[in-house]
Amino acid sequence: MLSTLRFVLFTGISLVMIFTAVYMTVLNTYKPAVKTYINGEFIGYFADEQQFDEVYNDLVAEKQNIDENVKVYLESEPTFEQSYIRDSLLEQQNVYTNLRAEIKTEYTIYEVVVDGEEQMTFTAEDQADGYVEKLKAEVEDLDASVNVEKVAELENITSTDRADTILAEIVDRNKPVEIPEPEPVVVTPQYPTTVYTGAVAAYVDGPKVWPTVGRKVNCDYWGYYGHNGVDLAGAAGTPIYAYMAGTVVFSGWDSTGYGYCVKINHGNGLVTIYAHASALYVTAGQYVSAGQTIAGIGSTGWSTGNHLHFEARSNGVPVNPWIYLNGV
Ligand SMILES: [Zn+2]
Repeated sequence: MLSTLRFVLFTGISLVMIFTAVYMTVLNTYKPAVKTYINGEFIGYFADEQQFDEVYNDLVAEKQNIDENVKVYLESEPTFEQSYIRDSLLEQQNVYTNLRAEIKTEYTIYEVVVDGEEQMTFTAEDQADGYVEKLKAEVEDLDASVNVEKVAELENITSTDRADTILAEIVDRNKPVEIPEPEPVVVTPQYPTTVYTGAVAAYVDGPKVWPTVGRKVNCDYWGYYGHNGVDLAGAAGTPIYAYMAGTVVFSGWDSTGYGYCVKINHGNGLVTIYAHASALYVTAGQYVSAGQTIAGIGSTGWSTGNHLHFEARSNGVPVNPWIYLNGV
């Protein structure tokens, strides 16, 4: 009887001790935890929701370290499932990595746009404003402004050093170009004695007369490209004299620009032309003597004012009239 009671008591105490040991072991090994999901994605086990918040806040601080104005958020609220896990498992999981992958960021960037092209990117608005102000102070009327954008990731943020370099380049590029004053070029007119290679001035002998009253030259031989004669100044109606004796070969209207004009053949291949006349006093075929009044100065044909256009042609080719006028 006593031995039975002792057995039962001993067994009972033993069982209680075994259960207690097992219970203690289980309690020490397994811990209550919250199984955490975001957007259906398993993140890991946390001791409790508060521990989740601590990890989340660590990661927010990590992003704010890059840009204090960053907006950090989760696409959806986390869901927690009450659970028990082995202690060692809590240490092994990568909750930081997993949660970091779920965290969304929105950065506000400020781009400095010059002439429609993005030149610098900053996370601070006052920095972007500062560079726009500097650019506008350096370059008059520069088209520079700040463009605000929201981006998920920060890329190509401009360092201060780089921004200073870009600023210098833009200023340099927009510098007004200084055009040096051109050296005054002194041109000494050089008149060819013949216009066409091989043209030879015909030799003529006999009395010669200056073809009008005045000697002022308005426009010399080749005074402009293609000007084959010498323009002598004179009021309308001033007499035009035959340079030498000869035969009038033309007296009338010339539609190629000479207007009313007289052409005299002096022989030996020389013909003199008197153009832009206002009056004609001779007719074709007529013989004239040197110094005879043949016409009056005018501004007919291609002419911009009253003058005598005197031209000398040797065998049909215009030559320098001074060959004939020099010394007369
Ligand atoms: Zn002329």
